[in-house]
Amino acid sequence: MNKYWKKRTDELKKWASKNENSLNKRLSKYYEKEFSRLDKEIAAYYTKYGKDNVIEYRTLLEKLPDEDIKLLMEKIDDFVYKYPKYAHLVPVRESIYKLNRLEGLQYSIIMQQHEMAMKDQEEVTEYLNNLAAKSANTSMEAMGFGKNFYSVNDQIVKNFVDTPWSNGESFSTRIWNNTNKLANYLNTDLAQGFARGDSYAKLTSALRNRFIKVSKNDAYRLIYTEGTYVMAEATMQPFTEDFEQYRISTVGDGQVCPVCKEMSSKVFNIGDRQAGINFPPFHPWCRCTFEIVVDDWDKWMDDYVARHGQSNQERSKSIIENFSMKFPLDLQMFSKRPKDYDTIILPKKEYAHVMSELNTNLTKEQLKQKIVSKPIGDYIYTIEVIEFGNYRIIGKKLIDETVGRKL
Ligand SMILES: [Zn+2]
Repeated sequence: MNKYWKKRTDELKKWASKNENSLNKRLSKYYEKEFSRLDKEIAAYYTKYGKDNVIEYRTLLEKLPDEDIKLLMEKIDDFVYKYPKYAHLVPVRESIYKLNRLEGLQYSIIMQQHEMAMKDQEEVTEYLNNLAAKSANTSMEAMGFGKNFYSVNDQIVKNFVDTPWSNGESFSTRIWNNTNKLANYLNTDLAQGFARGDSYAKLTSALRNRFIKVSKNDAYRLIYTEGTYVMAEATMQPFTEDFEQYRISTVGDGQVCPVCKEMSSKVFNIGDRQAGINFPPFHPWCRCTFEIVVDDWDKWMDDYVARHGQSNQERSKSIIENFSMKFPLDLQMFSKRPKDYDTIILPKKEYAHVMSELNTNLTKEQLKQKIVSKPIGDYIYTIEVIEFGNYRIIGKKLIDETVGRKL
């Protein structure tokens, strides 16, 4: 990966992880606070309907008292007032009058989970908008447009936050699904606990475990994975006009999963990118990125200048500096004839990998040349091209980013 681009992607990832941490902390605190609200409600049930710290299950099947109905109604009205867009999610009034005591408490849990979903959504949206702006600006800066080209409020930045990308789900939908699932679990725990005759301490400690743990896990995973999506997409957006191909990069990703490892160094068309399939994230907790691929930078520069005008020649040079792979082209090799070189024998697996990369990624121009150098993974391989599908490896060097490419 180009040194400049790697540095910039690393900085972006670092920014993301710092902000994710503080968002996670904020949400954790909020979940704790919400749980103690539920805890109090359950404690009140034990006081009201219990005897010797146990509630007889049968008493929970009696009708919900009017005062509790009133409280529940207030909660529902409050939610509808705050989030009118989601009014359709609350139970109809008539159904509240028919609830028994257990169901009353369960409805209360559902309403609380709805509120938590809204809060999660607000917080995550704000974070992702900032991340999108930061990411798009990273690319704009690399293209020579300064550090603050886009603001958080620019439509282009907001375009890919909360858009469906995997299973056709946006993150708002994911949050809703997660909280509904959690509400169902909590309600089952609650009913089973009462049926077993659990004490207040036993019941609430089990609920607390589920409530806090699941809320945190769901939120952290979503924030991380959506963050990767927004980072990749917002970083790519400014490149779509001037570039055609990208390569998946797992560089800097501490835990490279088998999927991403296989994907890394594969070259795709920018126009064909699809998050989750050939563009990050590939799986939950994925933090892969990409780098721009250009086979022929000289031709790219001509095209760029033709598109943007002669006055952009300097800009095009700095873009090349920022994106081209810097590897030592062993110029001497090209002065000799292929038969002057011995064949380099690679381990079977590496050989198969290199061959498949060559078959998929060599351009028509490269196939016409006798000797071609190609970066694959961490190495640059020099190959004698005999014909398509028939290559002889005559050089292999570790990519050394310290050696500059001659422009
Ligand atoms: Zn990954």
